[in-house]
Amino acid sequence: MEGCVLQLLNDTLSRALNDQMNFEFYSAHVYLAIAGYCSGESWDGFANFFIVQAEEERFHAMKIYKYLNDRGKRVTLSGMERPNNLYGSILEAFQHAYEHEKIVTRLIYDLSDIAMNDREHATMQFLKWFIDEQVEEEAMFDSIIHKLKRIDKDSNAFFMLDAEFAQRVFTPPASA
Ligand code: MG
Repeated sequence: MEGCVLQLLNDTLSRALNDQMNFEFYSAHVYLAIAGYCSGESWDGFANFFIVQAEEERFHAMKIYKYLNDRGKRVTLSGMERPNNLYGSILEAFQHAYEHEKIVTRLIYDLSDIAMNDREHATMQFLKWFIDEQVEEEAMFDSIIHKLKRIDKDSNAFFMLDAEFAQRVFTPPASA
């Protein structure tokens, strides 16, 4: 038998994947900082929402960690920028999260471009999951922002939204 059909990832692609892994860990950090703001304001449901979001981001990072190892590459952890810890309102916090997700989407697209240029089909397939995930993430934040804009922050509806988000739990996707 000959060896494995899959070639080692080239340096540009593996470096870009490693950068994305670090950015996903950073995203977890960004969302945990938002959770901290919400907790400080006693919006425990919104805080829970962002704690779960942080867990999801860590899960995304670990997916890339595993993938790089599967492809014979060693991961390198970087330092992190200080995330924003202060927000003017819950709405502002969600708007910041939405803008952050748009950056993530752009980075995933750039990464896919590199994989496509390399005709690295396994990586393109791997990244498809992230592309689909970004559609979900952006739609979710967009919808929450719409709701938050519709309701007054001292209204019952606002308290109910906080209570609803208290129920969110992290469940790793079965297919992942
Ligand atoms: Mg992510």
